Amino acid sequence: MGGENGCRRIFEGVLAKGYSDPAFGKVHLITVDAYALQHGDAHGPQSNAYHLVRLCAIVEFGASPAIGGTREPQGWREMLEGDRRLPEIHLTRSPGPVTVADVAGAASAVEHADLVRAWGRSVWLAWEEWHDWARRVLNDL
Ligand SMILES: [Zn+2]
Repeated sequence: MGGENGCRRIFEGVLAKGYSDPAFGKVHLITVDAYALQHGDAHGPQSNAYHLVRLCAIVEFGASPAIGGTREPQGWREMLEGDRRLPEIHLTRSPGPVTVADVAGAASAVEHADLVRAWGRSVWLAWEEWHDWARRVLNDL
């Protein structure tokens, strides 16, 4: 979307804020998942599945999106390490209207968190056709 170098640069700026200020870092994992799910072609074949399951855990199951804040559910690590292979899934529709550019200009950590959560919900909705699959993965862990 919008020139990948431009997106990447904006994304790196957002990540830097999260790493340097815990108030921004509170929603760090959403920024990573939402960005990856809007740039699936630039990542590995199982990247979409991994990030969609984690975004599901955050949006629907109340998992913490903070840096280092997600307690891994039983079975999560094996899944990530490939004992249970994740499928290749792809988006067949628009990745949603909210992008990293919309969150980059937040004037405060509170506004940043609100914008990032809205971004995460928007991306989650865009992946609607895979919702049941992602919920099943988490319920089966
Ligand atoms: Zn982009």
